[in-house]
Amino acid sequence: MIALTHMVVGGAVGSFVDGRGIAFGLGVVSHVPLDVIPHYEFDKMWLEVAIVASFLGAMLATGHAGTGLFWGALGGVVPDLENLLWRLGVMPERRKLFPGHNGRLGRFLRHGRSLGPGHAWWQAAIAVCAVAIMIWRVRTV
Ligand SMILES: [Zn+2]
Repeated sequence: MIALTHMVVGGAVGSFVDGRGIAFGLGVVSHVPLDVIPHYEFDKMWLEVAIVASFLGAMLATGHAGTGLFWGALGGVVPDLENLLWRLGVMPERRKLFPGHNGRLGRFLRHGRSLGPGHAWWQAAIAVCAVAIMIWRVRTV
């Protein structure tokens, strides 16, 4: 799954709770179903890193560091840190910890098969919906 989608879905889910820990946990949990669904893997790793870092940095710079939105977004994307380390050759694949990445929780939580870039549209649609939810939550809370 595209890291941006993980981040904004985690942020949207986290925006419904107040505690940092529960928001972070919900963000991490939201990562699982998004990885299990067959999906397109964005291959421009550094562009993803830049987008995620920019979004989280903007949240910090605008005073959202203590919000469920920020912690949910962080929780949503943090499991993919091990994928980044694996892609950089820093961490072997067998050391991955996250259930959606290592497949140790059975076939229902196994990482979904890779699809072509033509399937990125529905991930973008999910991300747009999640951003709309985040904007709505920021404006109404
Ligand atoms: Zn993942």
